[in-house]
Amino acid sequence: MSVLIKFLKVLFGIFKNPTEPTEVVLEEKIGREETTVRNLNDKIPGARNFKYKEFIKSDTALRRGIDNTPTEEHWQNIEKLAVNVLQPVRDNLGRLNITSGYRSRKLNKATKGSKRSLHCFACASDIESEKVSLLYLLEWIYNNCEFRELIAEFFPGGWVHVGYVEGWNVKKLKLKDKDHDYKLVSLDYIKNLYK
Ligand SMILES: [Zn+2]
Repeated sequence: MSVLIKFLKVLFGIFKNPTEPTEVVLEEKIGREETTVRNLNDKIPGARNFKYKEFIKSDTALRRGIDNTPTEEHWQNIEKLAVNVLQPVRDNLGRLNITSGYRSRKLNKATKGSKRSLHCFACASDIESEKVSLLYLLEWIYNNCEFRELIAEFFPGGWVHVGYVEGWNVKKLKLKDKDHDYKLVSLDYIKNLYK
């Protein structure tokens, strides 16, 4: 570095706005947060029975070479869903399988998911239980968890879809099967249908 540049830097250091260093540090911090990478084999903090990789794996993405990497915001949504819904379910009902978690726009299109699907925001997962029926799983979540939407999909052989959106958990219960297209229903309606 030339002596002249050193001199100018020292001079600039003396006269610059005293608030500037704080702003620079803040920008650097935000920059790092935007590029935070999760180790896919790590357990999710606060949801010890779930690993990050469970929420992004997809046979379709693998087969077709579709990128399904979440952004930082998506990772945080995955963490909120796992901590607030899935871990409590796991603690009370035993092991769960996540059959579909995050879906990038491209993957969602390939799997013919709804255009406004919460899967694309990493706010939803499709799950099944190894221990209890889908109806019992649905009923337990309905009675014990906060959620934005809970969907009985193609019961009794299908899956439970649960979506969690912080600040928007209005507990909508819906039904999807050959006769119902995400119809808003009561829990009793579903129980009568599939008892
Ligand atoms: Zn779903």
